[in-house]
Amino acid sequence: MNKIEHLGIAVKDLEASNTLFHKLLGVSHYKIEEVALEGVKTSFFQTGESKIELLEATNSDSAITKFIEKRGEGLHHVAFEVADIQAEIKRLKGEGFTILNETPKRGADNKWVVFLHPKSINGVLIELCQEIESP
Ligand code: ZN
Repeated sequence: MNKIEHLGIAVKDLEASNTLFHKLLGVSHYKIEEVALEGVKTSFFQTGESKIELLEATNSDSAITKFIEKRGEGLHHVAFEVADIQAEIKRLKGEGFTILNETPKRGADNKWVVFLHPKSINGVLIELCQEIESP
């Protein structure tokens, strides 16, 4: 794994949180993107080398809805950038981690994403992401 690509934070109100994080970081979000398949609307902030992804649910079946009901707003996942997502899936499976989707999905911010079950990693949801190369 290369580095922490971003931290994902579950929020109830993306608008309000965009304002809050603007105040906190001193920069505006650089994009808002809806991932319909996941039932989430996201916004991204860049601060130095690091990124923050805010996630708001767009429907009641969304993983973000369930997360907020159970645990409230807050840190939702830690995303690591990987160079070869298929190789990492294979390696981590071999190490006994539970992979939530073995076929990478198209996530926000032009990435292939895979999630590892928090139960296998001290309660932390881990995302692996690899930049989708444009043809
Ligand atoms: Zn993410």
